[in-house]
Amino acid sequence: MRDNAIILDELDTPAALPAGWGVHTEPGRYRVYRRADQAVFAHSAGPGSWKQFLHPPHRLIARLDADLNLEAAGDGPTPATGPSSQPPSSQPPQPDRPAAFLGVRGCDMAAIRILERVLGGDAYPDSAFAARCAGLFIVAANCTEPGGVCFCASMGTGPGVAAGYDLALTERIDDSGHRFLVEVGSAAGERILAELRSRPATQAEIADARAEVAAAAGRMGRSMPDADLRAVVRESRESPQWEDVASRCLTCGNCTMVCPTCFCTTTEDVTDLTGDHAERWERWASCFELDFSHVHGGSVRQSGESRYRQWLSHKLGTWYDQFGSSGCVGCGRCIAWCPAAIDLTAEMGRLVELREEADDGHR
Ligand code: SF4
Ligand code: SF4
Repeated sequence: MRDNAIILDELDTPAALPAGWGVHTEPGRYRVYRRADQAVFAHSAGPGSWKQFLHPPHRLIARLDADLNLEAAGDGPTPATGPSSQPPSSQPPQPDRPAAFLGVRGCDMAAIRILERVLGGDAYPDSAFAARCAGLFIVAANCTEPGGVCFCASMGTGPGVAAGYDLALTERIDDSGHRFLVEVGSAAGERILAELRSRPATQAEIADARAEVAAAAGRMGRSMPDADLRAVVRESRESPQWEDVASRCLTCGNCTMVCPTCFCTTTEDVTDLTGDHAERWERWASCFELDFSHVHGGSVRQSGESRYRQWLSHKLGTWYDQFGSSGCVGCGRCIAWCPAAIDLTAEMGRLVELREEADDGHR
């Protein structure tokens, strides 16, 4: 817990887990509350995602000194502040360390797989990203407490975690106590489990845990419309709905920052005051920034309308053409953290309605 939110950070002790905290979410709203039990995974997604570790917000790419000695930073340090707010760093690049992620939900597991396809695949893999993924140990957590903005069930990514984990936990608290059903997904997971105090689960415990996860699918706060979303966004290019959403959207880019799959970056060069030292940094960028589409002569997408349309059309449409899946995993972060309470499931619902009305008008 930090700043009234459940965040993702390095764990020094199990006591730092958010035991007994739950989360209420709705469009434009995220509030923690005290639960009656000490559950550690009974909360939906917070503002952070695993993207911040695999694809950091700021990254030093290279340094250049006055004698033109170039030093590639590789997978360099990830400071809390970025290139525009700090002088060139004097720290040496730090070697990467294998990481273990604890409590990865189904939606976020799907997001990690998407990042692997986008950044780690094809002809130009991002070697720094691949280095961070190497040796990754994933302890997944099947979701039993979906939030008000969650819709992973309608995106086919949760609430259970299907594959890709080393260990998967289902947290259970009842008259028998606080315990976890553990499923093993890899040899590494099996080795870790062998070091823990455990016993074989009974068939009743397995059925009970599965039923709890299945019930969570019916308690999602919302769902994506059951329609051909690719066709909807493709055929809605001139829809008046884009103007409507633009009248509410602040083009702040929050939705892209919290999204676990948005991957765009830009590069910035900085020098110190003596001119003896320069650094090149990579930082997250957003398609809501005016200069994101800047080419010769100005920005291609000048209006908020065109920028929101670009974001949603890419997420739910052209992402399939590029990467073979939807770019949205249904985590709901962009809905909770939008200051204007814009909800992409509602926007898609309206686009579907308008398309159906147009079809009816043509009959
Ligand atoms: S949709 Fe919301 S979070 Fe995204 S840019 Fe607009 S106002 Fe910001
Ligand atoms: S678009 Fe919104 S709901 Fe979908 S993955 Fe990104 S943050 Fe989550």
